[in-house]
Amino acid sequence: MNVLFPALRDASPAPALCFGDRSLSHGQLALVAGALAERIAGETRIALWATPTLETSVGAVAALLAGVAVVPVNPKIGESELAHIVADSAPSLVLAEPGSELPGPLAALSRIDIEAAAPSEEAGPAPLPIEPGDEAPALIVYTSGTTGPPKGVVLPRRALAHTLDALADAWQWTADDVLVHALPLFHVHGLILGILGPLRRGGSVHHLGRFSTEAVARELATEGTMLFGVPTMYHRLAAEVGQNPALAKALSRARLLVSGSAALPLTDHERITAATGRRVIERYGMTETLMNTSVRADGPDAPGTVGVPLPGVYARLVDEAGQAIEANDGETVGEIQVRGPNLFVEYLNRPDATAAAFDGGWFRTGDMAVRDAAGNYRIVGRKATDLIKSGGYKIGAGEIENALLAHPGVAEAAVTGAPDEDLGERIVAWIVAETGPDAGPAPSAEELADHVARQLAPHKRPRTVHFLDALPRNDMGKILKRELRA
Ligand code: ATP
Ligand code: MG
Repeated sequence: MNVLFPALRDASPAPALCFGDRSLSHGQLALVAGALAERIAGETRIALWATPTLETSVGAVAALLAGVAVVPVNPKIGESELAHIVADSAPSLVLAEPGSELPGPLAALSRIDIEAAAPSEEAGPAPLPIEPGDEAPALIVYTSGTTGPPKGVVLPRRALAHTLDALADAWQWTADDVLVHALPLFHVHGLILGILGPLRRGGSVHHLGRFSTEAVARELATEGTMLFGVPTMYHRLAAEVGQNPALAKALSRARLLVSGSAALPLTDHERITAATGRRVIERYGMTETLMNTSVRADGPDAPGTVGVPLPGVYARLVDEAGQAIEANDGETVGEIQVRGPNLFVEYLNRPDATAAAFDGGWFRTGDMAVRDAAGNYRIVGRKATDLIKSGGYKIGAGEIENALLAHPGVAEAAVTGAPDEDLGERIVAWIVAETGPDAGPAPSAEELADHVARQLAPHKRPRTVHFLDALPRNDMGKILKRELRA
């Protein structure tokens, strides 16, 4: 049986969670979360209104201590998606921050307000955590809904423990680390890596509430040692770091800068490294698999790749015929499949989708990649939306996006395929032009298409270029290609 949070069991006085001027030590967290765990013990499944707060973190820890499966809910969720999640997961009650107003389907459930005030010294010992078995469902996390309606992913305690320990190995993550965090708390990245990770290590997290480059600079200039972010955050840091010496100094002080949830464009890697001398490390994971691969803190630089499989995780590339690809040539594209103790149990209420997701014991990620001679995986895009079959070629959207982003007139870029009589599919580019004070006139469609053809190859030239004010993105900053295609 795996104790998920040794520092909580030991009632360590070291800082654990810090949200603005409110904080809890591991010992205090053991008390408040332990008390809440006693109240919810015996429930099978509960919902957690996942605002980016201390309360949400306490609620998640309490559910884990009580062995009650918890469903974190995005507080900005749309009505129909919320109705789907509540009907699908059927929680018996909802945990929420005091004072928060819950929408219809959740308001109908019985509610417990999460108490996160630090208890006094006389509070006595923490109630004993129940710590159920390793295979017990710990969290049910809904996927981001990038490619279709979100699916409920049943994650056992074993997968949480494994992924957090594997990351600790790859990133040399210890109790001395102070994580700077500005992500939402209803997905794997923000909740499992960003909150449960520091708690399992016995270290601490400073949550910024809202991302800003100023807050990141302030935190990393003082106590912060690591930053976890999504590409949209690193993009903003990259855009500013060249002209902001205080930000450059703060980032150069960080022990580790980690990006994930979507691909970080090469130009952002390069700008940050040029201004700070530091690299950004990318890791690759999914709700279903937690973390699969990462560039290692003790390994060579590999910008543009997601590194090597984490300890205990097996990864392979598979061609269209279902055969494993042995080549490490950096060119042969296949679907990534993974297996290991990091995997989920099943999609909730979806035996069909669960069965379809596996190839023997291997989980089909739906992500396409190549593998280089050093064993690093480079993701070229999703099988469903990012692989364009044009004129007999299979072209990854990612490399065209990187080429477009390397043009000084381009701020954001997305590439999709559209049906084409001659080519099968033709390449379509969606561009947000650079508008800053130093930006020149917006580039023409022709110029951008030529730029791609020159940088990559003539058959990778976009046939259509659309200019937009903004790309459609979800809460994690992921580009919603199905909306572009529609
Ligand atoms: P849905 O499954 O509902 O369509 P989703 O796949 O976006 O949504 P998540 O599980 O949150 O939901 O995201 C996992 C996906 O994010 C991966 O399959 C991969 O496509 C992408 N991803 C994660 N990290 C990286 C990375 N470092 N580089 C490129 N892509 C990444
Ligand atoms: Mg997915």
